[in-house]
Amino acid sequence: MEQTLVILKPSAVERCLIGEVISRIEKRGLIICGMKMMQLDESILREHYAHLVDKPFFPSIVESMTASPVVVMCLKGVDVVNVFRTMTGVTNGRNATPGTLRGDFCMSGQANIVHASDSVENAKIEINRFFKPEEIFDYTPALIGYLYGTDELK
Ligand code: ADP
Repeated sequence: MEQTLVILKPSAVERCLIGEVISRIEKRGLIICGMKMMQLDESILREHYAHLVDKPFFPSIVESMTASPVVVMCLKGVDVVNVFRTMTGVTNGRNATPGTLRGDFCMSGQANIVHASDSVENAKIEINRFFKPEEIFDYTPALIGYLYGTDELK
C-alpha cells in the first residue's frame, strides 16, 4: 500500500497541535506506520528542501524548522500521497481552504504546521531520509475491512 511522509513542524509542536493533527489522520482512516520526534538541522533541511536552497528565504526556513523538535510520521493508505496533500491544503495557510489542516490551523506561508510529500516518488525518498527501515511498521490494522471495500485493497 502507498506510503507518505509527514512532518509536524515546530509551528505545530510549539502550538500544541500534535494531537489535533494525529486525531484527524486517525479519523480519516490513514494508517500510522512510523512516528518519532527528532531535532532537524541545516544539513537534513538542505536535502529535504533542495528545491528551495537558493531562495532568499531559505535561511528563515532553516530557522523556523529547527526552532523546536518536529514529529515525523509515515502514513499508509490507498492513494495516501494525494489524500494527505489534499488534507494539508495549499502552502500559504492564509489561502488554504477551511477544512484543511493549514486552512484550519495556520495563518502563515512558512509556519504552516505540516509537511506532506508531493509525489509517490518523493515520498519514498523522504521516508528513507527520516526513518531507518526498522522504524517503519508495515502492519495491517484489524479494522482494514471497514476502511476500504474489498476491491479497493487488491
Ligand atoms: P509545500 O510545503 O506546500 O509542499 P514548498 O515545497 O513550495 O511547499 O515549500 C516548502 C516549505 O517552505 C513550505 O511549506 C514553507 O514552510 C516554506 N516556504 C515556501 N515558500 C516560502 C516563502 N515564499 N517564504 C517563506 N517560506 C516559504
